[in-house]
Amino acid sequence: MINTKTAALQKLDSAHYLHPFTDHKDLASKGARIITRGEGVYVWDTEGNKILDGMSGLWCVNMGYGQTELVEAATQQMTVLPFYNSFFNTSVEPAIELAALLAEITPPQFNHVFYSSSGSESNDTILRMVRRYWDIKGEKQRKTIISRKNGYHGSTVAGASLGGMTGMHEQGDLPIPGIVHIEQPYFREVVKDHPELKDLSEDEFGVLAAGWLEEKILEVGADKVAAFIGEPVQGAGGVIIPPKTYWPEIQRICDKYGILLISDEVICGFGRLGTWFGCETMGTKPDFMTFAKGVTSGYIPLGGAMVSDRVVDVLYQDGDFNHGYTYSGHPVACAVAVANIKLMQKLDLVNRVKNDTGPYLKQAFESLNDHPLVADAKTEGMVAGLVMLKDKANNTPFDDDDNVGMICRGHCFDNGLVMRAVGDRMIIAPPLVISHAEIDELVRLARLALDATW
Ligand code: PLP
Repeated sequence: MINTKTAALQKLDSAHYLHPFTDHKDLASKGARIITRGEGVYVWDTEGNKILDGMSGLWCVNMGYGQTELVEAATQQMTVLPFYNSFFNTSVEPAIELAALLAEITPPQFNHVFYSSSGSESNDTILRMVRRYWDIKGEKQRKTIISRKNGYHGSTVAGASLGGMTGMHEQGDLPIPGIVHIEQPYFREVVKDHPELKDLSEDEFGVLAAGWLEEKILEVGADKVAAFIGEPVQGAGGVIIPPKTYWPEIQRICDKYGILLISDEVICGFGRLGTWFGCETMGTKPDFMTFAKGVTSGYIPLGGAMVSDRVVDVLYQDGDFNHGYTYSGHPVACAVAVANIKLMQKLDLVNRVKNDTGPYLKQAFESLNDHPLVADAKTEGMVAGLVMLKDKANNTPFDDDDNVGMICRGHCFDNGLVMRAVGDRMIIAPPLVISHAEIDELVRLARLALDATW
């Protein structure tokens, strides 16, 4: 029996609140789990259950819950100046301080930032910047942006179009013109349709998968392609960690055809892969990086796009770029981001993920490969994913109707663990501050849920 407060909240929730990406009939029948507070890597619901948050909220609470420095930064800025805009020749101190800090921690080609409030808005911004860039360069016909199937770049019209989620494209006549998709670098999925590739090594597959970009460029016409966008590790698509050969080959192809490279760092940025930005782990030198989530550890909405010097030199050489949001450079959000990044630096958190907690998670999480349901349990820094198989000995996948991910996710929740399901894949992205003992606990709870699913 749930308590009366939970029941009353669930009733109101179901009556009035339209949730993102939610089957509302299902939600109404079960009732939402209502989360009330968090501390470290744990959250609590209205029933008093303690839950280990293996997803950092939604890939964002990198510093964990209850960081007072971030709260104090917000309170201080709200008291002094809660809002002023940066339009029409005004600016605000926290936005300036954050811009300088971002220039310091991002790769050397980046010295400028454009602010938004989310990852989706950041990718919308990029679409306009890329096209404007080629306009000014006198190559107006370069409009096409190439992206990947099963990539995720947000929910706005441009974000969902850049993304490669068919479920989103089917709703609302997407993608918009000028955005085309290539196959993702997910070996297991590709081999389903192309069994002749099954004997390729991981490295060979990486080069082959990157080659699909070149094929698409030649199909569209090299002089019509403006940019390529991708997540260093696909997150929402199921934590698809590409072979090591993939991204360097993508970079080589972009360079060969003079195509701009956009690294969507909304998940991979701010330490998630054990480097400040995912492109550093993957060995690329992008022209743009979009970010959100981890920049403030999700304590307040903020997003943005880092724009490389060579693009800035063209885009801002002459006149306005007619683009901006009321909340671009919001002072409170920027003040929290500054506090968040400084705290990460003080704790040496990125190196800790690279050299300590990341390797620890690797050995703990990859031990799940011995489970009779599990294959491909793999990590990169502080993200991880595995696939569940119906018949492991014969490599037989589950059918969609088996709903195996949802079943396993339910068992995780019942055991006090948030793990996300993407089809037959189970994924995690815990707070970067997670300890060894908490990693052990996470993997123990995941194994229990897999046992219950099996
Ligand atoms: N890009 C990536 C890689 C994401 O994972 C997300 C959200 O999960 C977005 C963009 C969109 O960000 P937002 O939900 O803040 O609009």
